[in-house]
Amino acid sequence: KPVAVVCVGMAGSGKTTFMQRINSHLHAKGDPPYIMNLDPAVRSIPFNSNIDIRDSIDYKEVMSQYNLGPNGGILTSLNLFATKVDQIMGILESRCGMMPEPITPGASMTAPEKATASLENHINHILVDTPGQIEVFVWSASGQILLSSLASAFPTVLAYVIDTPRTASTSTFMSNMLYACSILYKTKLPMILVFNKTDVQSADFAKDWMTDFETFQAALQKEEETGQFGGLEGESTGSGPGPGGNGYMGSLLNSMSMVLDEFYKHLQVVGVSSMTGEGVDEFFAAVGEKAAEFERDYRPELERRR
Ligand code: GDP
Ligand code: MG
Repeated sequence: KPVAVVCVGMAGSGKTTFMQRINSHLHAKGDPPYIMNLDPAVRSIPFNSNIDIRDSIDYKEVMSQYNLGPNGGILTSLNLFATKVDQIMGILESRCGMMPEPITPGASMTAPEKATASLENHINHILVDTPGQIEVFVWSASGQILLSSLASAFPTVLAYVIDTPRTASTSTFMSNMLYACSILYKTKLPMILVFNKTDVQSADFAKDWMTDFETFQAALQKEEETGQFGGLEGESTGSGPGPGGNGYMGSLLNSMSMVLDEFYKHLQVVGVSSMTGEGVDEFFAAVGEKAAEFERDYRPELERRR
């Protein structure tokens, strides 16, 4: 059975670029994936998708018809798409034992891709891209429906994509980890943390912080001492209560790092560059481990809850 890899992460973290990288990696190995795009608002995607929300739903039209802003438009598009979940699952279940043929007229494969696809009839991966606005997918009923349908048919793992250079301060790092933690508990699916953009900044600091909270606390102390504490670009780090001030944030982060220690133990962490391809083999090793974990720990739980 194929593994479903669902890419989630903050807007701009690099989900789509990461999808493109792992897609071409699998094609190069003669192991083409089946691809689903769930982002209704994306203008163009750098890969061929087999199922694309944009083929059946016109996001701009949804916005004007229902008089919605961008987020409401994405959410409503996703809701409309989720009403077809049975049809989508039917397509996935019937296609994913066969040749990955595009089901939509617009998305045709290039000749070399067809050649690879016909060599290898078996599909080992279903890759899913999600809307830039993470909350729209993770915290909506339709996102939940799509995710749980996938997970009831295939071993499903989340790839939580992180913008490494933008997560290098202790406070942005902690915010991101808390978000990842909340998604883990919301979805109850195995998760891989993908520290992306390692061509810009190595993910070693994050791996250190996650394996030894004393290194995190040391970084925290250093940021406080040098006045860099506060994290978000452009944010004031002046004195007074709050970031960079009297240190209540520091002591909060300190305590949270100890709590999160337990959460970290349940995660796979990889550093990748979607730009250069660094770390992609390591990512697929993690997918293999998490898929096995899904079968062992999550599948029985899913069946118990049903
Ligand atoms: P999404 O909103 O999560 O789908 O993010 P995108 O894939 O659209 O990427 C957002 C921006 O980050 C784009 O400008 C990408 O070129 C850039 N980007 C994505 N991955 C990498 C990477 O590995 N390295 C670098 N340097 N830039 C990246
Ligand atoms: Mg995207």
